[in-house]
Amino acid sequence: MSRYDPRKIEEKWQKVWEDRGLYRTAEGGEKDRKHYVLEMFPYPSGRIHMGHVRNYTIGDAIARFLMMKGYRVLHPMGWDAFGLPAENAAIKQGTHPKRWTLENIETMKRQLRMLGFSYDWNREIATCDPQYYRWNQWIFLKMYERGIAYRKKAEVNWCPHDETVLANEQVIEGRCWRCGTEVVRREVPSWFLKITEYADRLLEDLKKLEGKWPERVLAQQRNWIGRSEGALIRFPCGKRTIEVFTTRPDTLFGTTFMVLAPEHPLTLRLAKEGGKLSEVSSFIEKAKKERQTQRGEPAKKEGIDLGVKAINPATGKEIPVWTANYVLYEYGTGAIMAVPAHDQRDWEFARKYGIEMIPVVFPRKGAWDFTRGAFEEEGILKNSGEFDGLESQVAKRKITEWLEREGYGELKVTYRLRDWNISRQRYWGTPIPIIYCDTCGTVPVPEDDLPVLLPEKVEIAGRGNPLERAEEFVKAVCPRCGGKAKRETDTMDTFFDSSWYFLRYCDPNNERQPFDREKADFWMPVDIYIGGIEHAVLHLLYARFFQKFLRDIGLTSYDEPFERLITQGMVLKKWVSIGSLLDHLGLSEEDDIELLKEKLNSMAEVG
Ligand SMILES: [Zn+2]
Ligand SMILES: [Zn+2]
Repeated sequence: MSRYDPRKIEEKWQKVWEDRGLYRTAEGGEKDRKHYVLEMFPYPSGRIHMGHVRNYTIGDAIARFLMMKGYRVLHPMGWDAFGLPAENAAIKQGTHPKRWTLENIETMKRQLRMLGFSYDWNREIATCDPQYYRWNQWIFLKMYERGIAYRKKAEVNWCPHDETVLANEQVIEGRCWRCGTEVVRREVPSWFLKITEYADRLLEDLKKLEGKWPERVLAQQRNWIGRSEGALIRFPCGKRTIEVFTTRPDTLFGTTFMVLAPEHPLTLRLAKEGGKLSEVSSFIEKAKKERQTQRGEPAKKEGIDLGVKAINPATGKEIPVWTANYVLYEYGTGAIMAVPAHDQRDWEFARKYGIEMIPVVFPRKGAWDFTRGAFEEEGILKNSGEFDGLESQVAKRKITEWLEREGYGELKVTYRLRDWNISRQRYWGTPIPIIYCDTCGTVPVPEDDLPVLLPEKVEIAGRGNPLERAEEFVKAVCPRCGGKAKRETDTMDTFFDSSWYFLRYCDPNNERQPFDREKADFWMPVDIYIGGIEHAVLHLLYARFFQKFLRDIGLTSYDEPFERLITQGMVLKKWVSIGSLLDHLGLSEEDDIELLKEKLNSMAEVG
């Protein structure tokens, strides 16, 4: 028997497959005989590495298996082609980001073809292609129309090395997720997407994914959205009121002081009324200088009494109002009701400054020594008037009802999730389709004028935003009044690009809309999505948000994009999952499954 010569044999057969269009996916057929198998598309960083091969082999094996079973299988591939590395390469090597990216795509595509994966290359997309990113701009305009995209000046995470704004998710332990530089805070006008408006649905619909997505990913998303139910309480303070949000209204009777964040707009005003303006001002300056990463968890809790009193609505007693470095303005209302007996941070602060402590919740069994620390668990109420003897759970509800009756507050749900800042002060991304006119203000680019093309002639020097210096690009005519105007120079976070690419694969050449609804409805949802666990909260949450938004504007019928999610580690370590996955697909022939496992196993050894 002659030796297996991959060069000779594979090249020959790959050409035959190609010529016959073996992996080209035709439209139509029965919905329940379709299968959409998708691997997260790669960033064209240079070459295909074994991590890619492992990921794509899982998808390839599943796709081929299903094709052989007679399913109509959509198995596309494309490129997440915008982003920082292309620009960094431009700075280091003097190549244009576009050239660098397109060359990498060529290399990586050739490598993928050599591997013989069953992709329908006719559906290939690259997010840096104007035919793709014009639909980013179109979606952005739809979001703008509906108030989902909005601009505000915001204190943002700023990477001094990349000179760009980072999303909270891109800050890892106070450092830039890409380059590791320490992140600082800065005020920049930025474009946001109101993902918080979808918080409830994003959370609620996770139930539909139970048993289909890894539990770990579901848990991370739940935690990221961070729903908490509590009470919004208004404390009278002279002729003003101080609003706080608490998840522990059952501890209201134990509130012995209040704390405002240094940045809270009332802090200086109250200090002035309390005759403490100069001391408080210098305290605020000092607190602001503290590194952002330390805020909220400062090494030393420090504060200052504003010299005014608020009224605890439950007891009618006067309580002092402070400002302190351990309360964050970005979190909740930026003010807290401090309950030293039942919150350890308040306990430490009260002890340091000699503020009164009143225990109001006690363990169901045994006793608690309040001189040693706060009792933070739930229990039985005491020292709480008509609510004495109630369990915390019941007391929360009853006290909130009482507050509502008396006009001091109401039930409130809050989320940890924040709106998504999509502005990047960078060149290699989708231009945000907005024009600023001195007369008309902020004017969206009319749909017919899309795409707003990224100019090719720019100077990429490594600092600031090259688009700001691209005069021809910046100069614009106002679409409303025809007067002189200035173009927005921010580009979009690349997570925007990857939030809907799976829909574009359903109809990749559409020039009139992002995709045809019928075509998308045939293929969607993606039946099996394969990728890395590191995307548990970023990409996978944004994609779910976009799917819901696009459904709301009538572009698709489905509100969840990915029916099943496989993370690589899970497949390789738990063969049970692949087995049960195939069961779920109605594929029960043992031999075939064994073959599939074998193929995956051999890949795992290489990887
Ligand atoms: Zn950085
Ligand atoms: Zn105008």
